Amino acid sequence: MSAPTLIDTHCHLDYIHRQEEHPDGTTGTDPVQVLARAKAAGVEFLVNPSVTPAKFPEVMAMAERFENVYAAVAVHPTDVADIVDQPEWLAEIEALLSHPKVVAVGETGLDYYWDQSLVDLQKKCFKSLLELGRKYDLPVIVHDREAHEDVYQLISEVPGVRGIMHCFSGDAEFARRMIVKNFYVSFAGNVTFKKAENLHQAAKEIPLEWMLVETDSPFLSPMPFRGKPNEPARVKHVVEKIAELRGISYEEVAAVTTANARKVFGLL
Ligand SMILES: [Zn+2]
Ligand SMILES: [Zn+2]
Repeated sequence: MSAPTLIDTHCHLDYIHRQEEHPDGTTGTDPVQVLARAKAAGVEFLVNPSVTPAKFPEVMAMAERFENVYAAVAVHPTDVADIVDQPEWLAEIEALLSHPKVVAVGETGLDYYWDQSLVDLQKKCFKSLLELGRKYDLPVIVHDREAHEDVYQLISEVPGVRGIMHCFSGDAEFARRMIVKNFYVSFAGNVTFKKAENLHQAAKEIPLEWMLVETDSPFLSPMPFRGKPNEPARVKHVVEKIAELRGISYEEVAAVTTANARKVFGLL
């Protein structure tokens, strides 16, 4: 019997690719192996969000090369310094949104953990991208690290926008507030960590119809691989943990989160 279908809604395939450079220092290893392992684990497709304009060509090339790889385009909050001298960045993103393999604006958001030096620019960038998502009716993939209230505030300023709270890090109450705003709640490997009680509570209590799963690989490996490089095949451990927390079957979590992912990205 084949593994139930899963969708990794957030995976930095271009960074996995980089980590898999040959030991002799040569580059050019391609993600074929990573994608084969993902397929064996049931992953039907994955979404690769870009983090900075310099990465757009590589992310787009991967989406064009592999049928089951989709792309998202935006500027990550910790990379906003890259656009300071690039007045064309927003137009560049807008032009890519009509590409058939681009399924979201992402990733964008606010990160007060790694970088507080450019908060105003982070906010400006995030707001522009929320508006772009609304204009094209595409989901916006939101990165929120220690910035819940400001993320909520900016999303509230763009009524009608929809999207995904990627690598969700809040509690059940914050998840419910985001769902009201038409944002799906995407769980990553950190939901498998023992002390992540706020995430366990959220994964248990919010409606399954608003949940997605992701790896954020090569970062954030789930238990029992914590600290090691992550890859899309490991999204199954996130599904397993959610099933355990909710007391329902792996198959049910897989089926509903897969249907949710198809819906949010318009890949029905
Ligand atoms: Zn992120
Ligand atoms: Zn990410």
